[in-house]
Amino acid sequence: MNHKITKRSFIRRCAALSAGALCLPGTGFLAEEQSGFRKEAMFQEETARGIMCRICPNECVLKEGELSKCNNRKVIRSKLYTLAYGNPCSANVDPVEKKPLYHFLPGTRAFSIATAGCNLVCLNCQNWTISQTSPDKTRNYNLMPDKVVSESIAKGCKSIAYTYSEPVTFYEYAYDTAVLAKQAGIRNIFKSNGYIYPEPLKKLCGVIDAANIDLKAFSEGTYLRLSGGKLQPVLDSLRIYRDMGVWLEITNLIVPKWTDNTDEIKKMCGWLAENGFGKVPIHFSRFHPTYKLEQLPPTPVDTLNKAAQIAREEGLLYVYTGNVPGSELSDTKCPGCGSTVVVRQGYRIAANNLAEGKCGKCGSKVDGVWS
Ligand code: SF4
Repeated sequence: MNHKITKRSFIRRCAALSAGALCLPGTGFLAEEQSGFRKEAMFQEETARGIMCRICPNECVLKEGELSKCNNRKVIRSKLYTLAYGNPCSANVDPVEKKPLYHFLPGTRAFSIATAGCNLVCLNCQNWTISQTSPDKTRNYNLMPDKVVSESIAKGCKSIAYTYSEPVTFYEYAYDTAVLAKQAGIRNIFKSNGYIYPEPLKKLCGVIDAANIDLKAFSEGTYLRLSGGKLQPVLDSLRIYRDMGVWLEITNLIVPKWTDNTDEIKKMCGWLAENGFGKVPIHFSRFHPTYKLEQLPPTPVDTLNKAAQIAREEGLLYVYTGNVPGSELSDTKCPGCGSTVVVRQGYRIAANNLAEGKCGKCGSKVDGVWS
C-alpha cells in the first residue's frame, strides 16, 4: 500500500473534506486500489446492445469495461458491478436539520455518508468535487455496511443519512446498510434528487424512514438544461415515497435566472397542493455561486420570501427558507393557531414547544416524526 500523499491527492482530499468528510478514528484513508469495493449490481438486465442498468431513468446500456453515466458502475466479465460499495469519500456526523429535515427527530444527529458519483450533472452542484467523479479518483474510507452501523451507534446517531452526492447511484451500499441499520434500531434517511425508477425505489422504501428530495424546477426544459434530467420521474418518485409511508420533505433550490420565475414557483406549489403534498414541508433554499454557475449572484432573500408567500397562498402548510441565517422562516409554526412550535438557530434547536407531536398551546397535530 502506498500512503504517500502527493500534492494532487492532498488537493483532492481537501475538496472531499469541504464536501463533508471527516477523518474517523480507526478508519484511515485507503490506498489507490479500489477493486475490493465492487459488488454485483442490482436491477441489471442483459440486452442485445449490452448490460442495462434499470436503477434510474438514464438507463445506461454498457459494454465490457464501459463506465456508467454516474461514474460508479462498470461491466466486468459480462456483469454489471457497482464500484461504490463500502468506500465512502465522505463520512460525517451532521445535525438532521442539515439534510434538511425539520419534521423528523429534531435535534438528533445523522451519521452521513456519500460515495463518488451522481446520475445528474447539475450546473449548480455544491458537491461537484465528489458527485462528478468516480470512486477511484476520490480518497475513500473503508466502511462496509456493518461498520457504518456500528460507527453510527458509537457516535450517538439516531439515523444514517445517504447524502452529499447521489445515493441512488450507490444503491446497493445504501440498501444493505439500511437493512442492517433497521435491524439495529437506527433510522435511515435518503437525501436525493429523486431520479430513480419505481421498482428500485419501492424496494428501498421498505427500509428508508425519511427522505428529502430535490425538486429542482417545474418545467421539463429547465430540468434538462440545469441538471441533465427529466421532471416527470421525480414527480413519480415523490408520490411513491409519500404513498409508501416514508416521511417526506422537499427542497427547491432557487437559482437566479434559472428557477426564480414566480409563475413557475406558483405552478409547482399548486401542483403539490392539488396532488396531496399539502402537509409535506417545502424548503426554498438559497443558491450560492458555485461550479458552472459561479458568475451568478446569490439568491436575493426577497425572492425566497416571495416564494414562501406563494407556497402558503397555494395551500402548503409547512414552508421554510434555507441558507438564510436568522430568518424566522426556519421556525415551525402550528397549522392550527400559528404559534411557533420549534425555533431554530442555524441547525440548532433553540426551543421545542411540541408535546407528543402536538402544539403546546392549542393541541393541534403538527405533522412529522417527532420521536
Ligand atoms: S444508476 Fe447510474 S448506471 Fe444506473 S442507469 Fe442511472 S446513471 Fe446509469
